[in-house]
Amino acid sequence: MTRDELLERSRELGFAKVCLTEPRALDIPKEGLIGDPASVLPDVRTLIFLLMPYRIGLTKETGEGVISSYYPASHSAYLAAKRLAGEIKEAGFDAVSNVQLPLKPWLLGLGLGKMGRNSLVIVKGLGSAFHVQCILTNAPWEPTHYWSGRQKGLYEGCEHCMRCVSACPAGAIRESCMIDQEVCIRAVSEKDPVPEGFEKKLGARLLGCDVCQSACPANAALLNGSALSVSLKELLCGQLGTLPDVIGTNYARKRRLRKKAALLAANLHRTDLTQELENMAQSPDPGEAGAALRALKRLKEET
Ligand code: SF4
Ligand code: SF4
Repeated sequence: MTRDELLERSRELGFAKVCLTEPRALDIPKEGLIGDPASVLPDVRTLIFLLMPYRIGLTKETGEGVISSYYPASHSAYLAAKRLAGEIKEAGFDAVSNVQLPLKPWLLGLGLGKMGRNSLVIVKGLGSAFHVQCILTNAPWEPTHYWSGRQKGLYEGCEHCMRCVSACPAGAIRESCMIDQEVCIRAVSEKDPVPEGFEKKLGARLLGCDVCQSACPANAALLNGSALSVSLKELLCGQLGTLPDVIGTNYARKRRLRKKAALLAANLHRTDLTQELENMAQSPDPGEAGAALRALKRLKEET
């Protein structure tokens, strides 16, 4: 596989932007992230950053659970990068996909985008609606981009704009472009259990929150996607349907989604789901039973 073939194949797989660069170690003391690519692939010669765009789906109140369009895109990007790494290996090189490098510093340092006030990297033509995958390989391909140093500057459009800050329903965006992960709905929606007192803020959201991205002028042309609507009744009955194929097994965890569905059933005043909640309250799993009992109590109090 030549460099040009790699670039062409990446685009065929749905990656709108592909960036090849030289490996370097970044001093990133963040748990779970890899500072030195050579610690994963000792003879690494090339880092490949792949950006898969998606359309932001404006959330409609349907009485069901909502999953932001980011999650299916993230899973598609994961699968496409895995496939690409497989093809690089078939061509005789070594390759590792889904490498957890610190993506924001890399995207900024390579000049691919600028940091927005909502702490998301904004890339020309893609806004902030994209998912990034990284592949390490020992293929010696010439870089498309070179490291230009840590970038601290704000995205130009943010200078006189505070739309994301005003739109955020949780007040999670701080002046310093930092997100308070303890109150950001998107971050909390991925937690298990959801911290007490936060349930109502989730509204209908099973996973994700796109409010700050929807408000951002850089994403104005990208608001024609659709969020996933998921049947709460099916989740309460432990039926995930095709969700594992759509968002991946990491996010489609039955126990976690079942508990979240109970919480959302109360948020959305779904008294029609009382029987399913009562069945779930008999679960041998204390977490599931507790979530169902809490939801039943809230539904009763509110009727
Ligand atoms: S994802 Fe939602 S809660 Fe988090 S900063 Fe954006 S608007 Fe606020
Ligand atoms: S909404 Fe405005 S301030 Fe927020 S990231 Fe977008 S351009 Fe910047």
